[in-house]
This record gives sequence, structure tokens and C-alpha cells, in this order.
Amino acid sequence: MTDTVAHRIHPSSPAPTDRQAQAIALEDEHAAHNYHPLPIVVAEGLGAWVTDIDGRRYLDCLAAYSAVNFGHSNPLLLDAARAQLERITLTSRAFHNDQLGPFVTELAALAGKDLVLPMNTGAEAVESAIKVARAWGYRVKGVADGQANIIVMAGNFHGRTTTIVSFSDDPDARAGFGPYTPGFRSVPYGDADAVAAAIDENTVAVLVEPIQGEAGIIVPPPEFLPALRALCDERRVLLIADEIQSGLGRTGSTFACDLVGVVPDLYLLGKALGGGIVPVSAVVGDREVLGVLRPGEHGSTFGGNPLAAAVGRAVVALLATGEPQERAELLGLRLRAALERLVGQGVLRVRGAGLWAGIDIDPALATGREVCELLMERGVLAKDTHGSTIRLAPPIVVEPADLDWAVEQLEAVLEDLAARS
Ligand SMILES: *Cc1c(COP(=O)(O)O)cnc(C)c1O
Repeated sequence: MTDTVAHRIHPSSPAPTDRQAQAIALEDEHAAHNYHPLPIVVAEGLGAWVTDIDGRRYLDCLAAYSAVNFGHSNPLLLDAARAQLERITLTSRAFHNDQLGPFVTELAALAGKDLVLPMNTGAEAVESAIKVARAWGYRVKGVADGQANIIVMAGNFHGRTTTIVSFSDDPDARAGFGPYTPGFRSVPYGDADAVAAAIDENTVAVLVEPIQGEAGIIVPPPEFLPALRALCDERRVLLIADEIQSGLGRTGSTFACDLVGVVPDLYLLGKALGGGIVPVSAVVGDREVLGVLRPGEHGSTFGGNPLAAAVGRAVVALLATGEPQERAELLGLRLRAALERLVGQGVLRVRGAGLWAGIDIDPALATGREVCELLMERGVLAKDTHGSTIRLAPPIVVEPADLDWAVEQLEAVLEDLAARS
């Protein structure tokens, strides 16, 4: 499908309309204020585009933090969901269902592993992996009971539960929510020597994002993950890769770990695994590790439900073709080249992999939030990470011309900001 430029032109309207203002006020009145959304009220989505309640269209360059990698209302994924909706949606794991077996088999094959532990949200996958790593430490490695420690990275983002925020170093995420869960050691991201120094006989795992998303799309030195792999093998420690945002096509490969030829002991998956339709997450690993869990020790009412499994199967089938990965790689090269041209014109630095870019805006010009507000007025939805960094992660189905157009809008925003200052 080729887009005409005409339909992309977005009527600039700095102030929200009355309808938008009312919808926002309603949400603000009764929804807890744990987010600070951009002032847009989305009503519909198709492919890489969303439409607000006044009918204005925007190119979605966030894709729900990569949960919508395959586009809004992806027809293949919707078909799978619709068919399953008509059959059965929830059984609980008290009984078997006819979708779970095929889902875990197909996902394990995609990852080259034996076993899958299905959960719902990303944070649950992380929590599950922490339990698995500790149980493995006590039952297999022989760590003394209650002594296990896990190495984590400074700048990490793994979710929002009390245990996960215990090892976050983001004051907004952590402060005021103690007492904190013990058993974690934080080291600088990208520094394998620091990891080596932090490991002791009670270390059961190293938990790492192969690329740190929320921290600003931080790509570690290429030797970092291979060095962690070697270190974990040598010291008998599990390598856990949180691929919840980086995995499933975003970086131009199935897993970001593939980019450096590393196979972790456990993959943590989420976000795109649910196809933007339902929350689906998973821990994927080999029998020697995931096999430590025994009946009754872990679970979830919704984990592995037939609707989630049916959608997950459709996502795995998409990825098994290799097409989304190839498209993300090609479009990523295009995006990267276009963004590099903005360096020195209000952009300090560009980082990323595949169709995933972190862009450091000159803080003298604007905050990331301000840039995202101005982009929104021009019909592009993006999200700041920290300070003056913004991220671009459009659905992989985005049309090349639309991607170019988004970068043109960023260029125009930067020109406006430069003229203003
Ligand atoms: C989003 C995210 C999580 C948490 O996922 P939720 O579904 O929001 O709980 C964990 N790790 C990473 C790397 C993420 O990007």
C-alpha cells in the first residue's frame, strides 16, 4: 500500500479541542495519576497510524513501547484472536486447553529452547525469572538457602513491582516504595569487569537488557554480552536477557541477543508477544533451568489462557517467516541514515538498532517532552525517555515514505525550536 502525501498532512492545532479536553478531564478525574500522557485521545488505529476522537491522524512512532510491533489491527493477528474468541477464552491452568501446547512448542522452537513459562505482563515474566533463578541456585547450584544474589545493571528498567523497583536506580520508580527486596547487586551497564567483580559463590544470575530501552535506547559495547556469556559459563551463573522491549523483531532480529551471537539461559518476552491485543509474556529456557519449578510453586490465573496462546501462536508464526525482522532491519537503516543528517541541527547523538532509535536532543533547545508535544502537533506520536532524549519505535509495518515524513517533521520541529531560541 502506498500512502499519498495528502492524507498525511495534519491540520496543526496546538490546543486540544473541546471534545479532547472533556475526554482528558474525565480520565484525569477518576484515573490514578501515575502517567503524564500527551494531550491526545486515541480512538482508532490501523497499521502504523492512529486516529483521535476528532478524526485527526497521527503516525504512531512509539507502538506502545514495542507492544504493537506488527501494527494496529494487524489482520492476521485479529483473525487469530477473533477465531479464538468464538471458541473459548479462559480455562485457567486447572485444566489443559488446546492452544497452550502448540503455543509453547512453537515459541520454544522460535527461541531454540525447551520450555516456556507463560505469564501475562512483562513484570510478571521478570518476577518469574527471579524465582526460577533463585530456585535453580538452591536446588541445582547448591547455594545456601536464602543467600542467592542476582547482578543487575545500573539504569535498568524491568517493570514496576515492589521487588523490581527494589533494584531500580530511578528515584521516581523507587523512592517511597520501600522496604526493598534484598538480594540484588547493581553494576554499571556495559562493564563486564564490574560484573566479574560482583559475582561471588552465591550469585545465581545476571539480569540484563541487551539494549536498555527506557534508559534511552542504550546499546552496550559489542563485546559486552559475549563477555557476560563467557563469564556466566565460567562462574556457573544464569544469563537472563530481558528482551521484553528489544525482542520479537524490533532490532532487525528475533532477539537483540542475536545481533551479537549470544544465547542467554533465559529469555524474558512480553509486549509484542501479545500482538497489541492481549497481554502475553513468557520466560523461555532450557529444561535444566526452567524445569526446576514444581507444581504449586508458581502460577497465574490468566497465564497461558487460550486467547493469549492463540494470539501468541499467530505472533510466533509471523516471526517464523523472518519477514518482520528483515523489514525492521531495512527500515532501521533508512531511519538511521535520515536521523544522522540531523546531528548538529539540534540533535546531539543518535543510537539504536533496527527500527529503534534513541535521539539526544540538544537540551539547550528543549526537553524531550517539549519535542514530543511539538511532534504531536505535526501528527507524529513519540515519547521522551529521560531528559532531552526521545525514542522512535514505529510499528514495523510502517511505510518507508511515512518514516521519511516522520523524520521531516522532527527536522521541522528542531528548526522551529532553533528559530525560537
Ligand atoms: C515494558 C518492560 C517491562 C515490563 O513490562 P510490563 O508489561 O509493563 O510489566 C520489563 N522489561 C522491559 C525491558 C520493558 O521494556
